[in-house]
Amino acid sequence: MAQKHKGAGHGNEDCCSFCGAKRSDVALLFQGASNANICNNCVERGYQLLVESELAEGKSKKTKGGKFKMEELLKPHQIKEVLDQYVIGQDDAKRYMSVAVYNHYKRLVSRAEGPKDDVEIDKSNIVLVGPTGTGKTLMARTIARVLNVPFTIVDATVLTEAGYVGEDVESILSRLLQVADYDVAAAEHGIVFIDEIDKIARKGDNPSITRDVSGEGVQQALLKILEGTTVNVPPQGGRKHPDQKFIQVNTKDILFICGGAFDGIEKKIAQRLNTRAIGYGVQLSQQVDRDNIMKYIMPQDLKSFGLIPELVGRLPVLTYMRPLDTKALRSILTEPKNAIVKQYERLFAMDGVELSFDDEVLDYIVAKADEYKLGARGLRSICEAIMMDAMYEIPSSGKMQFTVDIEYARRKLEGSSLVTLKQVV
Ligand code: ADP
Repeated sequence: MAQKHKGAGHGNEDCCSFCGAKRSDVALLFQGASNANICNNCVERGYQLLVESELAEGKSKKTKGGKFKMEELLKPHQIKEVLDQYVIGQDDAKRYMSVAVYNHYKRLVSRAEGPKDDVEIDKSNIVLVGPTGTGKTLMARTIARVLNVPFTIVDATVLTEAGYVGEDVESILSRLLQVADYDVAAAEHGIVFIDEIDKIARKGDNPSITRDVSGEGVQQALLKILEGTTVNVPPQGGRKHPDQKFIQVNTKDILFICGGAFDGIEKKIAQRLNTRAIGYGVQLSQQVDRDNIMKYIMPQDLKSFGLIPELVGRLPVLTYMRPLDTKALRSILTEPKNAIVKQYERLFAMDGVELSFDDEVLDYIVAKADEYKLGARGLRSICEAIMMDAMYEIPSSGKMQFTVDIEYARRKLEGSSLVTLKQVV
């Protein structure tokens, strides 16, 4: 090393203190303290080593399951606190989710620690029931963000039984693998959100009257994956074919969160409550909060709706999302960490423009979303319609400030996209 280390002032040409290369042989030679030098090649090599060692450490942590240490797990309270930053309202669902997720990762810790006694914690897959646009996906996405685990969303309606046109159930895992950068261990601790689970319900209560092969077949195919099995996953997704190489993924530690609107399930709940009420006298049915029937939802209601009992059994945590009222919609515009209004402010700020909305405008947007029955999903489209022209003009206008007032908002919405928006409904 000493012979290689010829710093400045030795008369000879400067060399890299690490590899000995001469200044004239390298693109760059950085000079440090005490005449030590380092060339660009050694910097690059060092950087690579750093990246590799960090990656290696990350991987070994995950494969050992050490990623989830008991003392590092977020407690339900902490999970809910993060959910509160992104999701407005839905307190019951947040509490259920926080507990289910906490238990799920406690289960992983307990399995990684190895068997202590005969107690084995069951999986706590979740089903979220509630109208579209109430935050089911947002909730699942936020949970994945909190835990920093791979997350993917699949639509149950595109899934079919193997051999039919559509996507095999295994494709769910191809996507999870892709978002995990093919790190199998990471994917095996991920979260999958299966949307529109209600759309694969068996049609009609009695299976012998209405045979709905595709819905029930998909439910059957999902069963195994939900409970935990090793699946041969085609890495690129798509359909399986004989010559393909597969990656084996075990689903036993993947958390599945299913969401669905279950339109009309209130009737099933009410029916059940009424039938029960007869047995206990009229008292009970009077105590029922008729405006909020959903809060009485139970697993058997999912069965009445058309989910097969085995599938319902694999989804032990059941909770519901409330329809969003105008107060909630108003909060959604401004309060969550990445609220729509904050996003526009950021976009404008990047052009050096200070954007503001009059309060009246925000109320107007909420009223329109409510009027068009677009719920939270509509807030975004309405804002886009109002802001489109401004986003086009302002960056080259030299303006430093822009305030959206009610006249402007009305003019833009009514003038441009009202018709289109109504078509969206
Ligand atoms: P769902 O899955 O229930 O159909 P999403 O979670 O996809 O609904 O919500 C659609 C959009 O509406 C999301 O992008 C989100 O910004 C917004 N949103 C819906 N519900 C809420 C909520 N409770 N809090 C904050 N934003 C919400």
